[in-house]
Amino acid sequence: MNKVLVLGAGQLARMMELAGTPLNLDVKALDVSSNKVVQPISPEHVYGDLKTGIANADVITAEFEHVAHNILNECEQSGKLFPTSEAIKIGGDRRLEKALLESCNAANAKHHFVNSKEEFTAAISKLSLPIIFKSALEGYDGKGQWRLKSMAEAENIWQDMADFLAASTTTVKQAIVAEQMVPFDREVSLVGVRRVNGDVAVYPLTENHHTDGILSVSVAAPINSVIQEQAATVFKALSDELNYVGIMAIEFFQVGNQLLVNEIAPRVHNSGHWTQQGADTCQFENHLRAICDLPLGSTALIRPTAMINIIGEDSIPNEVLEIPSATVHWYNKSKRTGRKMGHINVCGENELALAQNLKSLADILCPTTFPDLADFAQSYLNKQS
Ligand code: ADP
Ligand code: MG
Repeated sequence: MNKVLVLGAGQLARMMELAGTPLNLDVKALDVSSNKVVQPISPEHVYGDLKTGIANADVITAEFEHVAHNILNECEQSGKLFPTSEAIKIGGDRRLEKALLESCNAANAKHHFVNSKEEFTAAISKLSLPIIFKSALEGYDGKGQWRLKSMAEAENIWQDMADFLAASTTTVKQAIVAEQMVPFDREVSLVGVRRVNGDVAVYPLTENHHTDGILSVSVAAPINSVIQEQAATVFKALSDELNYVGIMAIEFFQVGNQLLVNEIAPRVHNSGHWTQQGADTCQFENHLRAICDLPLGSTALIRPTAMINIIGEDSIPNEVLEIPSATVHWYNKSKRTGRKMGHINVCGENELALAQNLKSLADILCPTTFPDLADFAQSYLNKQS
């Protein structure tokens, strides 16, 4: 069991290869747009197409949930796909995701499905403003979303959504999920892992901050055990229900002491990148261990750690590397506005030390590329001092 094929050849596959190499795991990835199997870190050489990739692999997994269903089905037929195609499809369709949450009694925002003007009107009367509308399929990084704050905007928003639905070319029918806007205190996510035999391990909850709908900063630090337990219970219920194998992330809204599930990701997740420097075993290694049916590694927090995404920029000052514990992870991607190009992990032996290191980082990094970092670092530092 040492040959792994990842569906998708982006940064998540790349970090799986980095984590799998010490375990002698051979991680290859399918670039789904070109149907070429490559080594994620050095993609120049091509090892064939999906068919040969499936034949040569011991196990197959995915780095994103929007994989074409014909590819998922072909992989599933080989008996090598972990997690199942069902779990991956649920992560890619908000209707299925909501159905799963309901069936597991996992608290989530009140919602209503919208396929027509009548259902749009029904959603508005069932929910109260503000409402967030999300495309059921293909949404990520805040894309495919509309926010309705006052009835004056309703007609325009509906026109926009109707055009969006009409232009959709997805093989499964596109729809909109209307959701009550949750007045959350903060957003957190839980990254957890489950093995075939049902063993489960979860990382400490991570606090997440977004800029323009894209994750910008995640912080992992010791956390209130009541909230942590609540999240772990939801993880256990959902992952057991799906007979899940591998890493799964659950995004939550925290309101007071209650967690509401926002969405799930059936894969290694951006809010788990901090585990590379802040946990005993990183999420990429634990995902590989789970799908290869190896014992899971400890998910314990070694030290408070923050992850800062590098978005739309392909260079940062070298002085970043002078900050104690700062590590830079580039994805070897060409520069594009809004694209996740890499991330920085920074740690501290306690939260005050982490806050000080974050502040040093914010002082070095360009505020145009990291618009909210200085404010975040300062307020985090104020909380610790
Ligand atoms: P994506 O797949 O793009 O990550 P999300 O459903 O996570 O989509 O939405 C992106 C962001 O929008 C969330 O991280 C959150 O900040 C905000 N958001 C989404 N749904 C709600 C909601 N029901 N109430 C309040 N904010 C929301
Ligand atoms: Mg999200």
